[in-house]
Amino acid sequence: MAARTPLIAGNWKMFGRLAALGELTELGRLTAAVGAVDILICPPAPYIAPACAAAGARVIVGAQDCSPRAEDNARTGEVSAAMLADAGARYVIVGHSERRTFHGETNALVRQKAQSALTAGLAPIICVGETLEQRQAGQAAEVVAAQVRESVPSASPSVVVAYEPVWAIGAQITPSLHEIAEIHAVVARTLAESFGEAARAVRLLYGGSVSPANAAEIFAVEGVDGALVGRASLKAADFAAIILAHPTAGKASAAPH
Ligand code: PEP
Repeated sequence: MAARTPLIAGNWKMFGRLAALGELTELGRLTAAVGAVDILICPPAPYIAPACAAAGARVIVGAQDCSPRAEDNARTGEVSAAMLADAGARYVIVGHSERRTFHGETNALVRQKAQSALTAGLAPIICVGETLEQRQAGQAAEVVAAQVRESVPSASPSVVVAYEPVWAIGAQITPSLHEIAEIHAVVARTLAESFGEAARAVRLLYGGSVSPANAAEIFAVEGVDGALVGRASLKAADFAAIILAHPTAGKASAAPH
C-alpha cells in the first residue's frame, strides 16, 4: 500500500472576513516549495469559492460541516456536500467537538455526514476525542474507540480521522506525546477491526493546541499523519511554520493529491 500523504489542515471556525483571504495567498507563497504534504484550509462556508481563488494551487480548500442529506431537499439553512464540492471544497470536517457539544451531533449523524461527503466526492475529516471528565475517569480509549466504530462509514484514502481531545482544543495544553501515540494506536486498531486492510489507507491527524512550538514533536509521534489546527491556522506565518515543521515538508515539492 502506498504511504499516506501527510495532511495539515486549518480550521478557521467562525473567524475572519473576506479580507482574511489574503492570509491564504500569503500561505501559498510561504509553502510554495513544500514537499509532499497536503495543505488544507477550511474557511467559513461563504468564503469557500473566493478562498479557492485566493489560495492558488498549493493550498487546498475545505469546509467545516455539511448536511447529512446527500440529495437536494427542502432543508432551510442546510448546505449539502455536493454544494460545497461545487464551490470548490475538496474536504469537509464532520463531527468537530464544537458541533457535537453545541449542536448535539451524535455519532450516527456524524457518520451520515461523512457518508454524504464521500458520495459528493469530498474527503471527510471525522473528528473524535474524549472530554476531560472521560480522560480523568480512565475512559479515553473506550470513548474514542466507540466514536470511531460509530462515526466512520468506510475506510479508504479519502477518509481522514482527527483525534482531538476536547480538553486540548482552544486551550494551552496538549496530551503527552505518549498519550497521543496511545490513542492514535486505538484509532488505528479500531479501524482495522472494522475495515481490515483498507484501514491502513486512512490518515490519522492529531488536533488540539498544535502550534509552531510543538508541531515537530507531535509530527514525530508514531501513527500521526498530520494535524488539524484551529487558532494557529488563522495567520499564514504561524500555519506555515507548523507545515515546515513536518519532516516531509523539506523533501521535493509536489502538487497536492
Ligand atoms: C480545533 O478547533 O480543531 C482545534 C484544534 O483548535 P486549536 O488548534 O485552537 O486548539
